[in-house]
Amino acid sequence: MQTILPYFSQNPLDRLEHKRASKESFNELKNSPQSKIILYYETQIILDDKCNCFFSKEILGFYEDNLLVLLGVDSEFNYFALHVKEIPQNCSSINLRDLAEEDLLSQEKLGILAQALSVLNWHISHGHCSSCGEKTLVAHAGWRRDCPACKKEHFPRTDPVVIMLVTYGEYCLLGRGVNFPPHRYSCLAGYMEGGESIEDAARRELFEEAGIKGGEVSYIASQPWPFPASLMIGVHVKALSRELCIDTNEISDAKWLHKNEIKALLDGDESLGISTPRSMAIARNLLEWWVLQG
Ligand SMILES: [Zn+2]
Repeated sequence: MQTILPYFSQNPLDRLEHKRASKESFNELKNSPQSKIILYYETQIILDDKCNCFFSKEILGFYEDNLLVLLGVDSEFNYFALHVKEIPQNCSSINLRDLAEEDLLSQEKLGILAQALSVLNWHISHGHCSSCGEKTLVAHAGWRRDCPACKKEHFPRTDPVVIMLVTYGEYCLLGRGVNFPPHRYSCLAGYMEGGESIEDAARRELFEEAGIKGGEVSYIASQPWPFPASLMIGVHVKALSRELCIDTNEISDAKWLHKNEIKALLDGDESLGISTPRSMAIARNLLEWWVLQG
């Protein structure tokens, strides 16, 4: 089976979980000349005037009291993520999806940025204790928030989403979300619910959105999707029926396409009037995986 490497999934960092409790280790890593700082502003990444988004530690001098999270280390650098409330001079901000699409950065660097975005998105939206409402304090190198009143510890959360390659023999099901760009079709997807297995979530979403009964479900690959905190779980669902019954509140259309049509679409054929998911979407990886299966 070929290796599937979705965008944002190739983060090389050692996250140094065992050092998070030590303020000394945190400061030592932070003050090292090997420190690289990612700046986060209103869910966006900051770029300097040379389109660089990994700043040297000197930038920290301007933001001494700001939220700083230890991301981890690779063989060269110590990486941190810093929340800033204004954009520094001569800099600009960019959405990580737009940055990824420009292909300026390696997949490893995009993985590190996804980690930064995900953890800071959580901090920004979880400033108060969910038990008692008190303001929480940053702890554990930025990987926990502690409540000073009721002592509850809060950890960054991830919201799992199942995204499905649904097949019936040589046919594959694609759907159009109600907010998709014109002509775009993709794999069906949906948030998992509490107390639900991945397999059940996939079958439930498939039946709710398209009226198709799902049979065997197998895992293919996953993708961190920090917009704001999802994990895309890519699965293969073998459909037990082909007759569509679409819920138009969820999707505007769905259709079965033959493997040869999927191949043509992935090769850029526009004659079907359908556009396929962007390179950074795991849906595209799933389709590419399927057309390469015997
Ligand atoms: Zn509390």
